[in-house]
Amino acid sequence: MSDTIETPTAQDDVVDELRTWLAENWDADLTVGEWWERLGLAGWAAPGLPTNAYGRGLSRNDSVRVQTEIAEFGALSAPGGLGLLLAAPTIATHGTQEQIDLYVRDIVTGTRAWCQLFSEPGAGSDLAGLTCKAELDGDQWTINGQKVWTSFGHVADLGMLIARTDPELPKHQGITWFAFDMHQPGVEVRPLVEMTGHALFNEVFISDGVVMDDAIIGGRGNGWAVANTTLMHERSGLGSGGGSAAAGMATPGTVAGQLDKRVGDFVSGPKKRRSASSGGGAPIGGGGAKLLIDLAKGNGAIEDPSIRQDLMKLHTLGEIGRFNNLRLKAAKKAGQDIPGIGNISKLAMSDIMRSTRDVGLRIIGAAGMLHAYTDDQRGAIEAATGSPFGQMVTSIALWAQGPPIYGGTDQIQRNIIGERVLGLPKEPGDTKNVPFSELPKNA
Ligand SMILES: Cc1cc2nc3c(=O)[nH]c(=O)nc-3n(C[C@H](O)[C@H](O)[C@H](O)COP(=O)(O)OP(=O)(O)OC[C@H]3O[C@@H](n4cnc5c(N)ncnc54)[C@H](O)[C@@H]3O)c2cc1C
Repeated sequence: MSDTIETPTAQDDVVDELRTWLAENWDADLTVGEWWERLGLAGWAAPGLPTNAYGRGLSRNDSVRVQTEIAEFGALSAPGGLGLLLAAPTIATHGTQEQIDLYVRDIVTGTRAWCQLFSEPGAGSDLAGLTCKAELDGDQWTINGQKVWTSFGHVADLGMLIARTDPELPKHQGITWFAFDMHQPGVEVRPLVEMTGHALFNEVFISDGVVMDDAIIGGRGNGWAVANTTLMHERSGLGSGGGSAAAGMATPGTVAGQLDKRVGDFVSGPKKRRSASSGGGAPIGGGGAKLLIDLAKGNGAIEDPSIRQDLMKLHTLGEIGRFNNLRLKAAKKAGQDIPGIGNISKLAMSDIMRSTRDVGLRIIGAAGMLHAYTDDQRGAIEAATGSPFGQMVTSIALWAQGPPIYGGTDQIQRNIIGERVLGLPKEPGDTKNVPFSELPKNA
């Protein structure tokens, strides 16, 4: 008997079409840019997008299946990053066809990379309290303000900028979403180094930056609704039950400089096929019950019943995430939705990350205190511990603090579920009606 419930597969004809297409189109001697152009324009880079936005209108599960097929074939995966994850679905939802052709085409073909210019030093959870200013002069806006925690800002060509276009309106109403050019004199990007040793995110200072009126997505003053679409994709896209199937990775956009490289150099050949019942649990955010089970078997930690119990809990959390995805798929097929599912998925992912961190560190014990910041250190730690995997556990443990914060903290997800799904009373105050300029601000 199988130990997991089988995942329903994508429509066989879609998979067959993809396999035939891959056989005809994959060529390791193309450049990364040439390959991504083929993949993106054929609708396989973002198959979940509608057909008028370079997609194929597939469900999330079927889109994951497409990624897996591409990886199993041994071809380079679609251009990753925040363009594909956030900007493309936002523009596909709120943009005009002209904007879709201008921006989404470059995202699915990996030509341009995007970052998300939402958070500010005084506006994170209270995102609608943002103060970055946009002032109109003719058909051009001048932008002044500071953004922070801007992931991949250092390799971005464009930014999803939300800025205040009318401080005399209540705070949620005077906000506008712009497609903002990062390559201009008024933009300064400064890296912020995390405890992992990487500098994934940045501070971005904008001084008299400019953006044209036709780069507004979703209409002037409608930025809160547009930003909520972006956040909804962030929460559900990063939530549990998905997982990357990439055979290889390359960075999109003009800054990273990988578009002209040979695509075959970014992949290491076909990936082994994985059946849903092959054990070890569903793919889980940033970790993997399978890796931890193998580590625990290898060093004897598996003999500890409390570790076995924690591994089982981790596996169960991954499976619940997968079942929620299946429930959502069934609901969507019946023309329904599951209110709050994106928020629930994100909370589940935070739990999975914390559980992965905790049980992982218990399995590897004192070796979990060793973290490599350079290649030399990586080699030294591997030699000292006799295994490359301990460092993966430590890296995951250091990273585990991020997911419960980005895309809206756990507390904010719970507030949203409470207020918008369960109908609980909102926080006191009259922020919906008072002009932003009259609201008290942080010092
Ligand atoms: C790894 C990482 C990547 C990120 N990438 C990006 C990015 O690319 N672009 C971007 O714009 N931002 C990004 N962020 C920023 C992220 O969205 C914010 O950190 C997040 O929204 C929280 O805001 P804050 O840090 O200002 O914390 P605060 O809002 O100051 O919150 C501090 C604490 O107070 C709690 N809290 C605040 N308000 C409430 C409330 N009403 N009810 C209950 N509890 C509350 C919070 O839960 C939190 O525990 C990233 C963050 C991380 C960690």
